[in-house]
Amino acid sequence: MTRPADYSLSHPCLLSRVPRFDFETDVAVVGFGAAGSCAAIEARGTGARVMLFEVTSGSGGAAALSGGEIYVGGGGGSLQQRTAGFEDRTEDFHSYLMMAGGPNADAAKVRLYADNALAHLDWLIAQGVEFKNSYIAERVMEPLTDDCLVWTGSEEAWPFSAQARPAPRGHTVRREGWSAGKYLMDTLAARVHAVGVDVRFDARAIALVVDERGAVHGLVVRIDNEPRFVRARGGVVLCAGGFIMNRDMVKRHAPALLRSDHPIGTVDDGSGIRLGMSAGGASINMMEGFVTVPWYPPGSLVKGIFVNELGQRFINEDCYHGRVSQFILDQPGNRIWLLQDHETYAPGLLHETARIGIGAAGESWEEIERELQLPEDTLSATVAFYNRHASRGEDPLFHKAKKWLKPLDKPPFVALDCRVDHAQYSSFTLGGLDTLPTGEVLTEGREAIAGLYAAGRNACGLPRWGKGYSSGLSIADCTFSGRQAGRQAARAAREGSARTS
Ligand SMILES: Cc1cc2nc3c(=O)[nH]c(=O)nc-3n(C[C@H](O)[C@H](O)[C@H](O)COP(=O)(O)OP(=O)(O)OC[C@H]3O[C@@H](n4cnc5c(N)ncnc54)[C@H](O)[C@@H]3O)c2cc1C
Repeated sequence: MTRPADYSLSHPCLLSRVPRFDFETDVAVVGFGAAGSCAAIEARGTGARVMLFEVTSGSGGAAALSGGEIYVGGGGGSLQQRTAGFEDRTEDFHSYLMMAGGPNADAAKVRLYADNALAHLDWLIAQGVEFKNSYIAERVMEPLTDDCLVWTGSEEAWPFSAQARPAPRGHTVRREGWSAGKYLMDTLAARVHAVGVDVRFDARAIALVVDERGAVHGLVVRIDNEPRFVRARGGVVLCAGGFIMNRDMVKRHAPALLRSDHPIGTVDDGSGIRLGMSAGGASINMMEGFVTVPWYPPGSLVKGIFVNELGQRFINEDCYHGRVSQFILDQPGNRIWLLQDHETYAPGLLHETARIGIGAAGESWEEIERELQLPEDTLSATVAFYNRHASRGEDPLFHKAKKWLKPLDKPPFVALDCRVDHAQYSSFTLGGLDTLPTGEVLTEGREAIAGLYAAGRNACGLPRWGKGYSSGLSIADCTFSGRQAGRQAARAAREGSARTS
């Protein structure tokens, strides 16, 4: 009889020690969120028997809390893009995705998604997910109407705009109000049940089952407080999300994210990543995360400027709020202000929730400088320099686009207080298991581990650089990578894997 001490998240159960298999399936999926649902649907679609194990009592994961924005482009543009007058060439979409992925962008994954994103949108529609044919031109966090197409990244901002022709690519599911992701996940969940996936709730994956050569044969799940042994002929697909809620893991791998006091997600305890590592999987980009303080909308605030506690600018403010927030974290100290004049200031939609208040107000920038106890001629000199160039439609230091440039010269002036240790900075992780575009989990030596797949935030996919993150990239990646992994595991089951049991 195998004792619980024989295996754990970090120690796989040896195949030879499995007392019995309680379940036999072709593909076992861990996690009923964005990636897991798509992996299950796709695997089942090939005729494979699929079991899905979810630790909570319901479906959705972090995806159900999300804004339901999905980053899609290329191929000349989606229906929504073309209707709104945007042609989106695949090569522009590809270039943007490569930039968004940062220094460690995965060229193979980017290529695959850039070439197939429109077909992926069609696939989501075929699962029953609705997208209205409409466009919102103004800056929003997420549409609170049921509208679809929005700008969700830094496409129009330097340096992205210099390398890829901009287009709005955030495709939001058709649902009014915050958290439209609930509708997305309810729709995908209904589909999972409809196609005949065997779903087990309240089932926590606690270990993988491996043979002496390291190939994965199944997993151990805890159901009703008892270990249940699952044999998965094609493989196990790990879709258990990221690790932002595991503060020990964050401390070890991504300590900069500890400065964000508002981790967002559901379980996200890193259990899926640890399971993959227990079988020899390599984790990569673990230090990267998405961080944001929602400082806009309204868009007029983009005409203001950010300064650090030296009174200096550090970013073109027309970038996506997450990119700006990442640069904020790079600044010395905690004190950060967003400067506005009478014409640009309006209370932000989420300022109260995000604890962004007015740090100083005055009739001159010198007065604001004194009120903030900054050395003389720091902030005021920064604003004077900015105003001089903005009046000519130029931003020689940070290249903010002309349409956002306006001298901040209409009193009264305000400095919005965006202190890192005070305002609400939300975050989730972007690092995870290293995988091939097929979802196969790789070792440190980049060899595929037989029978092991990962997708979504359990893996390291398209979004892997906080300074390049754009809203919609995570769900795009989770749903797309889930499909690839589910299909590959089903294929392995069909062809008979190289593993012997
Ligand atoms: C408030 C908010 C808004 C967001 N808005 C957007 C947006 O608009 N667009 C976008 O692209 N991204 C958005 N994101 C990010 C995005 O939602 C997530 O990154 C994405 O949903 C992750 O999907 P996933 O499938 O990897 O994980 P999840 O959807 O979290 O699914 C993981 C599942 O695994 C289960 N699980 C965990 N451990 C185990 C275990 N050991 N055994 C069994 N089951 C387990 C969990 O319970 C969960 O159901 C947002 C996130 C939040 C929190």
